[in-house]
Parts: sequence; structure tokens; C-alpha cells
Amino acid sequence: MTANSLGRPARAARASGDTDLLVATRSGRAGVCIVVVLLAVSAFAVWSSQATGIAAERAVRASTISDDYARAAMAVIEEESLARLYQLEPAHAVRERLDTTASNVFSSLAEVRRDGDAGDRRLVKRVLGRQRDYLDAIDRQFAASDRGYTATAAAIDLGEADPAIDEIQDAVASAARDQHKTALLELEHLRHLEATARRLTPVVFLAGLLLVAALASITGGHRRQLNVERARTLHDSRHDTLTGLPNRTLLAERLTHELRSDAPVGSRTGLLLIDLDRFKEINDTFGHHYGDELLTQVGTRLAAEVCDGDLVARLGGDEFAVLLTDVGSVHEASRIAGTLRTALETTFHVEGVDLDVEASVGVVLSGEHGDDATTLLQRADIAMYVAKAQNLGVFAYDPAIDEHSPAKVALLGDLRRALDHGDLVLHYQPKVDIITGGLVGAEALVRWKHPERGLVFPDEFIPLAEHTGLIGPLTAQVLAAALSQIRTWSDAGTPLTVSVNLSARNLLDEALPGLVASLLDAHGVAPGLLELEVTETAIMTEPVRALRLLDQLTRLGIRISIDDFGAGYTSLGQLKTMPVSELKIDRSFVMTMTEDPSNALIVRSIVDLGHNLGLTLVAEGVETAGALDALAAFGCDVAQGYLFSRPLPVAAFDAWRADRRPPATAGRLPVQRAAVTSITKNRTR
Ligand code: C2E
Ligand code: CA
Ligand code: CA
Repeated sequence: MTANSLGRPARAARASGDTDLLVATRSGRAGVCIVVVLLAVSAFAVWSSQATGIAAERAVRASTISDDYARAAMAVIEEESLARLYQLEPAHAVRERLDTTASNVFSSLAEVRRDGDAGDRRLVKRVLGRQRDYLDAIDRQFAASDRGYTATAAAIDLGEADPAIDEIQDAVASAARDQHKTALLELEHLRHLEATARRLTPVVFLAGLLLVAALASITGGHRRQLNVERARTLHDSRHDTLTGLPNRTLLAERLTHELRSDAPVGSRTGLLLIDLDRFKEINDTFGHHYGDELLTQVGTRLAAEVCDGDLVARLGGDEFAVLLTDVGSVHEASRIAGTLRTALETTFHVEGVDLDVEASVGVVLSGEHGDDATTLLQRADIAMYVAKAQNLGVFAYDPAIDEHSPAKVALLGDLRRALDHGDLVLHYQPKVDIITGGLVGAEALVRWKHPERGLVFPDEFIPLAEHTGLIGPLTAQVLAAALSQIRTWSDAGTPLTVSVNLSARNLLDEALPGLVASLLDAHGVAPGLLELEVTETAIMTEPVRALRLLDQLTRLGIRISIDDFGAGYTSLGQLKTMPVSELKIDRSFVMTMTEDPSNALIVRSIVDLGHNLGLTLVAEGVETAGALDALAAFGCDVAQGYLFSRPLPVAAFDAWRADRRPPATAGRLPVQRAAVTSITKNRTR
């Protein structure tokens, strides 16, 4: 993955991460503030009700005791004055009133004792004692008076009754005064509390309002953030991460929309499919950083050339498309295609390096070449394919293309039918452990049983399928067939890991992991028995998306193998971050390693490098015992090639497997010598 291909998304992700963090921090702080305010409001409510309640209760109690004391004080005063009256006028009625008043003194003191606290009870006890003394004294005083002992009576009055009643009066009156004062204080406290609560209530109410406002603002903020997030996800799903241009999805949407509005107005929609020629060479020579930058500049240049309302999209890899919203004729669309092609011919400057690219453009027009987005896209693809294959620069789709175009294009209609009729078959080529000679797996390689042409090999139709969107259904069929075979072998008690090849386009298909998962499920196959082979070039056409997809596949438990390793451009650092478990050394090195020491060196370096990264090393294209010996010496793990067997139909593969002698001795592999002698350098297949 280059810095460039990651640059924009990484920056965007970082910026969005920062915003997320900011929003999260703010939300966190706001949350704490809300909790504090909420606690304060609740505490206030509890305090104000409790404090006023307690204060009111204390005020009531204080005034009750104060009343009790006041009644007692009044009774004591009345008692004394009645006692004096009786001395002046000793009538029976006065005596009776005195007795009643005396019992009033007792009962009011009893009320004080009931309502008061410990201090009051002590006081009542003392006063009651003195009250009894007083009553006893006046009883004796009255008796002395009755008998005419005036001096005795006066002595009792002065020496006993007076001091007792004075003491009682003092004690009760002062307690009454104190209690009255306390009652007033408690009342004052209560009034003060009520005033405070009254003053604070609007403040608390305001705080509550603010709280509601804060909550509303936070929820609003979250909603806004969600909307932004949703808009960003929607934008990302319809735009290319590298160039920021619309992607295939958005192009198809816009195309469908334009086609719908075509009919009433009578205008026509043109579609140009642009593929850069020899872009792979630039990528391989200068590295992906330069490739990425070049693609970005190509996008910018195309966008600058088209009219307002037209749309430039990047479909993946080095493929672009231009949607022309209003063109009069195929001729006009082709003329615009030519202008765009010329615009791309001006040299690009990428970090001090001058890069020249050429492009092949396929042209289609609505009405003329199709009425729906799928047909138009497919035909633009074919037209572009012809432009490239015949070096035409620009080519407008021609319905008679099958007669004029190369044989490969002629195959297209047949291939579609082959997919419908199930004419594709899988051959299996064994993968052998170099040390033990044991069979460790098989690679599934697709062949087409053509009704007239016989067996057609993948090199002839896979590129065609890749260019016409047929690779999706083709891969789905291959996967289903391979999984069904894995299941058959497992059921027969001879389980075997099978590798299936994926194309670059498959790695951009976000539905692939789901498809693989459901196929595994449908066939009841353990994910560990399936391996997927992808070339480094396929990963590098759109590294971010491809690696995300590979991650999803590995999470299903499927092993990923890097095919044709060494032929493309992958750095050690990149390899380290890829979710792969196997490297397959490209057969161009393996097939020549015994003659070409530099290729032998490359093979050896790849083996060392792969082992350092903990990967399994597979050499493909092993044709000779010499190559196998050299690979064994380098420590390579697995070999695949004509030396063991060509790719075989299932029955032949099973027979080969059954015939295979068990490994005799270490170091000498059971090799089918007959196969070795029949090998020629040119693939005879
Ligand atoms: P590949 O994945 O590199 O497959 C290995 C190719 O090398 C096969 O060619 C195989 O027959 C050939 N081969 C194996 N051992 C030797 C050897 O010792 N010497 C030589 N000279 N060749 C050997 P095949 O079957 O013609 O496949 C060609 C390519 O087509 C494959 O290359 C793969 O990229 C692609 N392909 C095959 N099947 C599928 C498929 O189901 N899906 C996709 N997307 N691509 C496929
Ligand atoms: Ca392969
Ligand atoms: Ca290969």
C-alpha cells in the first residue's frame, strides 16, 4: 500500500476521528454537567422540604411548651392570690376555688412534663416538690388562722409559704419566658427558611430549564453528527477512495437516471470507457506510489475536459468512464472520446518523473447500442476491448462486432451461454510437500468445454470475462464446483485443501465474502479446506479495498495465497501487513532456475523472505527433477508442476492419487517420470 493511495482516506479518517473525539469529549463533559445540575436540583428539593418540615415541627413544639408554661404560670399566680384572699375572707367557696386552682397547677405542670424535654422534666419535678411544700404550709397556716393563732400563721406564711410560692413563680415564669422566646426564635427560623426556599425556587426552575435545553442540544448534536456520518458513508460507498471520483455504483445510478430522462426530451446519453495502455508497466517500473499519483492526475485531467453535467468515474484499476449527458450521435461521442485521448497524451509529471500514457476508449450511445445501464456498460467494455486489442485508440460498439473483431471477442456470446449451460469444468493440479512427497492440496483450474472448439484454456477467456463483468458469475460457479468437489473428497474419507483463483475484479466485489460464506455453508465445507489465490497485481490495483476484502475472507477462516509472486511489485513491508499465509513463486522463475542463476537467486531470496514472514512457500511450474532438487536445497515447502502432474479432470486426478506410491525414502520423491519426459518448454497441455 503506498502512501498516496492511503493519503486522502487516511487524512479524512484522521479528521473524522478528531471530530469524533471532540464530540465525544464534549458529550462527556456535558453529561457530567447535567448529572451535577440534576443532583443539585434534587438535593435542593430534598433539603428544602426536610428543613422546613423540621423547623415547622420544632416551632410547633416550642410554642406548645411555651403555652403549657404560660398556663402553669397563670395557675400559680391565681393560686397565690386565692390563698391571700382566703386569709382575708376564709369562706368555703374561696377554699374550693383554691383547691381547684392548685390542681390546675398540677395538671398544667403534667402537660409541661408530657410535652417538654429532659430539662423541663427536671424543672417540673423540682416545682412539684415545692408546690407540695407550699400547699402543706398554707394548710397549716390556714389551720392556725382558724384557731386564732395569728402569730403562728404569720410565721408560717413568712417562713414557708411565701418563699415556696415565690420560688415556684420564679421558676415557672422564667421557664415560660424562655420557652416563649424559643418559640419566637423557631418561628423566625422557619420564616427565614421559607423565604430562602421561595427565593431559590425560580433559580432551581431555571437550572431545570437549562438542563432540558442542554439535553436537547446534545441530542441535536448527536443527530447532526449521525447525519454527517451517514452522508460520509454514503459518499464513500459511491466514490473512489484514491481519486475521489464517482465509482462504478454511482456511474450506474447516474446512467440509469439519465436513460430514464432521455426518452421524453429526445436527448441521448453517451458512455465512454477508458482504459490506460501499459499502466501496469509504469506501476511495476516506478512503484505504486507513482501509479497512484498518475491515476489521480488522469482523473483530474479528464474531469477538466468534460462539460458541466457530464460525469467522470473511476471504475477500478486503470479504468475510467465518462458519462456524456447530451450527445447527438455516435460520431459526436467518438469525437469527444478522441479529444479525451489526446488530452491524456500530454506528458504527466509525477514527482520529477515524466510519464506518458496512452488510452483505449470504447464508445456506446443510448438508443443505438442499448437502453439499460447494464447492456451499455457491457458493450462499452467490449468496444474498449476491441479498441485495445486492435490498437484503434477509439472504437464505437458495433453490433456486427462478432464478425469483424478478433476471435476472443467472438467468444463473448458463447461464454455467456457457457455460464448458463454449465459448460465450465474444473481440472485439479496436485500440490506436493517437497520433504515428504505427500499430497497437500490441489489447485482448481477452470476449462471451458466449447461445443465446437473443444477444451478452451483460461488464458483465452478469463481476460474476456474480466473485461465484461462476467468474471463475477464465473468465479461464483468455480467456487461452487470446487466446494462441491471438496465435499465429495471429504465424504470419501480423502479430504484435500483446494485452491481457487480470484481475479482483480473479484477483489473489488464487496458481495464476495458473503457469497463465499453462504457457499461454504451450503456445501457443508470447513473453511480451512478452501484456499483463495490472488495475484499481487490484483491486490495492488486497489489495495485499500482489496485488503479489506481479504481481511473479511480470512476472518471466515479461509487461507489466502499470493499467486505469481515475484512477477509484480510488492515490498517486504506491504507483505508483512497482508493477511496471507502462502506465497506461490511465479512459474517464470521456477521453470528457468536450473539454467538461469539469477532466477535461482530470486527463487532462493523469495523462499528466505517468505519464511522470515512465517509463510508457506510454494513453487509452481516445477517441470524437472533438477528444479525440485534445487527447491529442496533452498528449503521451499511445496511444489506444483508438470513434474508431478498436469491439471487433471477429477476422475484422472483420483486415479493419479490412487496410483501414487507412498513416499519411499526422504529426499527421493515419487515422481511420474513418464510425465517428465513428455514435457516441452512450450505448454502443450
Ligand atoms: P495460475 O493461477 O498461475 O495457474 C497455474 C497455471 O500454470 C495453470 O495454467 C497450469 O496449467 C500451469 N502450470 C502448472 N504447472 C506447470 C508447469 O510445470 N509448467 C508450465 N509451463 N505450466 C504449468 P492454466 O490452467 O492454463 O491457467 C492459467 C491461468 O488462468 C491461471 O494461472 C490463472 O491465473 C487463470 N485461471 C485458471 N483458472 C481460473 C479461475 O477459475 N478463475 C480465475 N480468475 N482465473 C483462473
Ligand atoms: Ca493460481
Ligand atoms: Ca500462478
